Amino acid sequence: MSHAAADRYAWIEPDVEDLGGGVYRIPLPLPLEGLKAVNVYAIADPGGVDLIDAGIALGPARERLTAGLRQIGYELGDVRNFFVTHIHIDHYSLAIELRRAFHSVISLGEDERANLIATRELMNGRGSTERFFGFDSLARLGAAELTAGLDAADRRPPAVIEWEDPDRWVPDGADLDLRTRTLRAVHTPGHTRGHLVFHDAAAQIMFAGDHVLPQITPSIGFEAAGNRMALRDYLSSLGKTLALPDARLLPAHGPVTVSTHARVNELLAHHDLRLAETLSAVQAGHATPYEAAKAIRWTRRERVFSELDLFSQILAVNETAAHLEVLAVRGQLTRETSAEGADVYQVAGPES
Ligand SMILES: [Zn+2]
Repeated sequence: MSHAAADRYAWIEPDVEDLGGGVYRIPLPLPLEGLKAVNVYAIADPGGVDLIDAGIALGPARERLTAGLRQIGYELGDVRNFFVTHIHIDHYSLAIELRRAFHSVISLGEDERANLIATRELMNGRGSTERFFGFDSLARLGAAELTAGLDAADRRPPAVIEWEDPDRWVPDGADLDLRTRTLRAVHTPGHTRGHLVFHDAAAQIMFAGDHVLPQITPSIGFEAAGNRMALRDYLSSLGKTLALPDARLLPAHGPVTVSTHARVNELLAHHDLRLAETLSAVQAGHATPYEAAKAIRWTRRERVFSELDLFSQILAVNETAAHLEVLAVRGQLTRETSAEGADVYQVAGPES
């Protein structure tokens, strides 16, 4: 592995990082391609510990959390609260599992309620072909042919848990009083509709969940309830983050970095470029989200669409659709429905 690559993945090493002020970063393993770990943050005081995010409900994650807490002098039973940034399985599911044994209290953003209900419907109700979200919209995005590959792939989530309610639905702007500090919960929809970041203005740190990630661009609107306007929401959430004082960035995936503002500005620039590329694709005649996605380069390595694995292709089509919707909202494109039921975009004509 090159030096640069080694540095890039240093954050996933199973060490506890002491961030000062009783805050510790504990990376937990994930069985996901491309996303190898999730950071759980422990906020400790003599009486116990509160956690930001929980990890995935699988044995290796639970073992690593146990070991990480022991390293700083606590047991799983000392966890009072899980403040979970969003509903995704790598953040929420281990909290559900541990609550059964230890009666810890789980808090989650109130706008995740729709996702929790939709996730239960996906898991319990309809046929197995619809258990993978993002799947049922493929025909509308002009990408029906990708569904054939999905029949062969394993669409089930990696951990089977009961999608139980949290103990507390947290509204935007709530102040969470911990023993050593107050965290302001800020609603930052986009990655999911109910995503929260937890901002400690006094200590100048932000627990950013998946809203602002230092090394990758967060997926947008990849959620059970779906959200066509996810990118518009996300861009405005980035603006909301810039309006808060700058803070040290404590992300759910990737290393801790010095400035939320610096990274938000990079993400805004990235989406500006993406919007321009997406507009160019439509100008060149690529009318559906699927066609436009195939006309764009992907990942840091500028890969062509056909080089991506199936899961990444589905994310890419959904991501392209999100950019097309923003261009439509801005009046640069119009959207119609084709005879096959696919969304078809055109460059907006001059006003008549
Ligand atoms: Zn995540």
